[in-house]
Amino acid sequence: MSEITLRNITKSYGSHLALPSLDLDIPKGSFVTLLGPSGCGKTTTLRVIAGLEQATTGEVVLGGKTVYSSGTGVFVPPERRGLGFIFQSYALWPNMKVDRNITLALSEAKQPKQVIEDRLTEALAKVQLTGLADRYPSELSGGQQQRVAVARLIAARNSILLMDEPLSNLDAKLRTEMRTELKRMHRELQATTVYVTHDQVEALTMSDIVVVMKDGVIQQQGSPYEIYHNPANLFVAEFIGDPRINLFEGILSMNGSDRILRFEDSTIPVPARLQCGDGPVTFAIRPENITIVERQGPFSLPAEVDIVQPTGSQTIISLSVKGQRVTVLIPRFETSLSRKNIWIEFPADQLTFFDKAGNRVPL
Ligand code: ATP
Repeated sequence: MSEITLRNITKSYGSHLALPSLDLDIPKGSFVTLLGPSGCGKTTTLRVIAGLEQATTGEVVLGGKTVYSSGTGVFVPPERRGLGFIFQSYALWPNMKVDRNITLALSEAKQPKQVIEDRLTEALAKVQLTGLADRYPSELSGGQQQRVAVARLIAARNSILLMDEPLSNLDAKLRTEMRTELKRMHRELQATTVYVTHDQVEALTMSDIVVVMKDGVIQQQGSPYEIYHNPANLFVAEFIGDPRINLFEGILSMNGSDRILRFEDSTIPVPARLQCGDGPVTFAIRPENITIVERQGPFSLPAEVDIVQPTGSQTIISLSVKGQRVTVLIPRFETSLSRKNIWIEFPADQLTFFDKAGNRVPL
């Protein structure tokens, strides 16, 4: 069931068309991330859902209720849409103790005292801050402060949560911790969550559904698995994945009854059912799917190792194949390959092909 529906949303800022025509259905209880480069319209979409921005045309339906319709003139203001927000920083009120920071909105909404106390106790327990209600934010660590902000959302019990780059001001370690915290919160609350980020790791690690946007247009929406393994087009393929996917130009042809891909001096067998004609083709392979082999084989390519970068659990290896840059990722700490000549192979079932328009060719 859809909890948030955007129908035919357009949004112009003066002569600039930020959203040309957006349709989106967000299922109840899901964690959906809007992902894309700067300026692609993620924040605008979130603000249109919140009512902080009025769409130029279209319709917004929240929990079955139309909160905006350009046709009928309905516009429900943000404070009456029943939403919880977190924006770029988790800013707490420095002059208020933890308990007041968490319950301020509830007391302003004139909730009964007992309800407020119960919610405070529950929220503190959920973020493991029981016993710290009496502290000021300055008496807490950075991570604890973030958890107070999460507790505030837990206490408010909104059925829809909107978050715009909430982790962008945190250092890398805290960001990783808070990802876990937010994911736990979502599991506990089951609130429909729309999360905006340009960070693909946040999108892949936290979401049920990732919506990849470019120039105000949805490029693909799907599970993190689909987005990563079956990118709809070249933009998604290149935007998702770190290190980036390798892209090459090859030539598809028939060899007897077999379909083959010619790349440099090598030929790679490819599935005959690949739904595109023979001739030049763009193909892609993720760095972790390239295999390094000890000696030359029928489908191997000679490569020269350029740079080796161990990151701890993995090593990123930059190679050159006939002058073309190739990135390989191996799942271990490895330094012995530096400046060596090796062979690599592209397993045929790990290749993705794109047509001239940049769309993925179905298998
Ligand atoms: P970022 O990741 O940088 O926050 P974004 O994907 O969230 O980017 P938006 O903030 O939604 O992108 O902006 C979409 C487009 O609309 C951009 O081209 C931006 O310059 C433009 N835009 C956004 N807000 C305004 C505004 N108030 N007035 C004019 N143009 C705007």
